[in-house]
Amino acid sequence: MKQRILIIGSGFAGMWAAVSAARLAHLQGSNALEIAVLAPQPELRVRPRFYEANVASLTADLQPLFAELDIRFIAGHADRIEAAEGGVWYKTPEGEETFLTYERLVIASGSHLHHFGVKGIAEHGFDIDQLETAQRLEDHLNALANQPETEARNTVVVCGGGFTGIELATELPSRLKALLGNDTNTKVVVVERGNTIGGRYSEALREEIRKASEALGVEWRLNAGVEMVDANGVTLQDGSRIEAATVVWTAGVKASSLGENLTADRDALGRFIVTPELRIPGYSDIFATGDMAHAKTDSLGNTALMTCQHAIQLGKFAGHNAAASLLEVEGLPYQQVNYVTCLDLGTWGAVYTEGWDQQIKLVREEAKKLKIAITNELIYPPKANREEAFAAADPLAKFV
Ligand SMILES: Cc1cc2nc3c(=O)[nH]c(=O)nc-3n(C[C@H](O)[C@H](O)[C@H](O)COP(=O)(O)OP(=O)(O)OC[C@H]3O[C@@H](n4cnc5c(N)ncnc54)[C@H](O)[C@@H]3O)c2cc1C
Repeated sequence: MKQRILIIGSGFAGMWAAVSAARLAHLQGSNALEIAVLAPQPELRVRPRFYEANVASLTADLQPLFAELDIRFIAGHADRIEAAEGGVWYKTPEGEETFLTYERLVIASGSHLHHFGVKGIAEHGFDIDQLETAQRLEDHLNALANQPETEARNTVVVCGGGFTGIELATELPSRLKALLGNDTNTKVVVVERGNTIGGRYSEALREEIRKASEALGVEWRLNAGVEMVDANGVTLQDGSRIEAATVVWTAGVKASSLGENLTADRDALGRFIVTPELRIPGYSDIFATGDMAHAKTDSLGNTALMTCQHAIQLGKFAGHNAAASLLEVEGLPYQQVNYVTCLDLGTWGAVYTEGWDQQIKLVREEAKKLKIAITNELIYPPKANREEAFAAADPLAKFV
């Protein structure tokens, strides 16, 4: 009987965990493991691109890769982990409650947007967090041209000026012009709590964001909190209004609540605080990875961010270590010393930085080329080819 590594989630971390576990079994010449991925669909949804148009196309089918590597895919949604029994309750697409046991469990169920209970957001707001919600925004934007022209119709408010908010806001001017006509007076406003544009980032990066925003006509409302969203726009905490047919929430993210019955420490974002091998302390057979893991990236005190850059590497280490522990091979402590950012800034270009201090290395067209290479190639699954996939899944191979 094979020993099962059950991986929950087929995002960046889950997909790479599966490939990396398969790689180690292959290297060890072992046929003793069943590597199984449980997720609603056998696809990778490319969340970092959800600010773009044609969102339905931003998925990658994982079936050819999984078939090539003998990874079992199980369609379903995990509801509850029964750690004492070594199993997971999940619901099949037909709604049937099913129990599946594991020898090792890798929790890679990702994250979702957090609204902080702002009034009216759930009913009237949009977001680009998941494929379905990004599609809803796209359908809404595409239908704007059918509405009578008003300032509100032509205005999009983006709540939150972090990376997601900035990429969406700087993408929108050209998208709105394409939808509503070049002569239409469209408006994009970023509502941001902080007192500086891009205040969380290095000064050099902020300056590029400021320049791009100015060139694209993206307005920033700083020191501004959202009080309420309704069908006609946003009321800010100072009582002022922005009339807008489209309000998009981008601020705040929370790890999936899966595993909330485990007795384990989580950080403020809901991530499990994991050991260097990405185990959940107290559960030697359970690993957390990707957006579910709060893990140290180096010995300097840096911690993995909820980014696909970290999720990919965290996935490779988690899969490797889950397999290593069954194959009686020594595990690898997770480390990811390099950190880069590549921020899309619409038709203005992009900006690429290296290091935790975000030193600028490329701007505008050069950075844009790199951004496209990253988001259209680098973060996609490997080809359904054993050799290539296993080479890429090596946790110690250079990534960025
Ligand atoms: C709009 C947007 C822009 C972003 N831009 C960037 C960027 O520019 N650069 C960057 O590095 N990162 C970016 N990110 C962050 C990045 O997308 C995430 O950090 C990354 O997706 C995390 O990978 P993951 O595998 O942990 O989770 P996810 O990619 O969220 O995958 C989670 C998987 O788990 C499955 N799942 C969830 N719950 C269950 C359950 N109960 N049972 C079974 N399966 C389940 C899901 O279906 C999915 O397959 C962006 C995110 C968004 C939303």
